[in-house]
Amino acid sequence: MTEVVVKNKVIGADISLERTSYAIVDVRGNIIARDEFNTQDYDNVNEYVSTLSERVVMLAEENGGFESIRSMGISSPSANHLTGCIENAPNLHWKGVVPMAAMLRDRLGIAVALGNDAHISALGEHVFGSAHGMNNFIIISLGHGIGSGIFSNGQVHLGADGFAGEVGHTCTVLNGRTCGCGKKGCLEAYCGVKGIVQTAQELMQTATKPTLMSNIEKLTPKRIYECCEQGDELAIEVFRRTGTLLGLTMAGYASILNPEAIILTGGVARAGHWLLDPTNEEFEKHVFHNIRGRVKLLQSALDNYERDVLGASALAWGIKEYSLFK
Ligand SMILES: [Zn+2]
Repeated sequence: MTEVVVKNKVIGADISLERTSYAIVDVRGNIIARDEFNTQDYDNVNEYVSTLSERVVMLAEENGGFESIRSMGISSPSANHLTGCIENAPNLHWKGVVPMAAMLRDRLGIAVALGNDAHISALGEHVFGSAHGMNNFIIISLGHGIGSGIFSNGQVHLGADGFAGEVGHTCTVLNGRTCGCGKKGCLEAYCGVKGIVQTAQELMQTATKPTLMSNIEKLTPKRIYECCEQGDELAIEVFRRTGTLLGLTMAGYASILNPEAIILTGGVARAGHWLLDPTNEEFEKHVFHNIRGRVKLLQSALDNYERDVLGASALAWGIKEYSLFK
């Protein structure tokens, strides 16, 4: 009789420009062990995949053995779940189309699934976070980029090509600022980190009153938030303008999808009520009347690290088992 090894753990990994985080997660969503390394040290994707595979195996061997790992889920920017490829990522070093899921599956001999970071956030929030039990919600991540994941009728909405939810690149201001994507007036050009700083700089140029922001060498949303906390009127105006545009866009988004909640996450969301109050006000003004007052505006209860690694682990549990040795 052969001994059957129970495959009761998965690997959840999160790739971002700065770092790659990975963890061994059990069936209950407990993170058993975790580690990370710098993504930027690897210009060559083959070397990156070798390192990630070796490190994952090492971590598994130290925590119950690699044979107890069922599968692996990965969250990455510009990832397409339908193809398993990272496609033309502007925010990663690897150019073109990288078949990440297939490369890792070949090295590790287990099933590997890849998901877009915004979609994985939605999955993580559904399984482990503020959206637990919700079948229809949207998560919007506010950072350097603005991404969003749509959870619809109990599952992540991928879209025909796997790129659903690019709310950051919808037009919010006609003929407005030029966005990193090349188009004009995108939400991201106003409500992403750079956009918020630009709003502050524009306001400072025409300001008639003194502002604490002019004493700051390098403005960031966090520093602007600190000025708000000290009652600086111009800093408060920066988030009022940001929230107004965010609320307007979210109202359109919600009117189309009728979500139970919109969850805001990412560094910029930490501006708290300075951002959320004007966002909410504008949202209620523009949202379709029959859902006005019904969409909850929430801040994520999970930290980004937990959500993305756990979301990736949820993806891993959802795929079919695979073994090279069967
Ligand atoms: Zn854009």
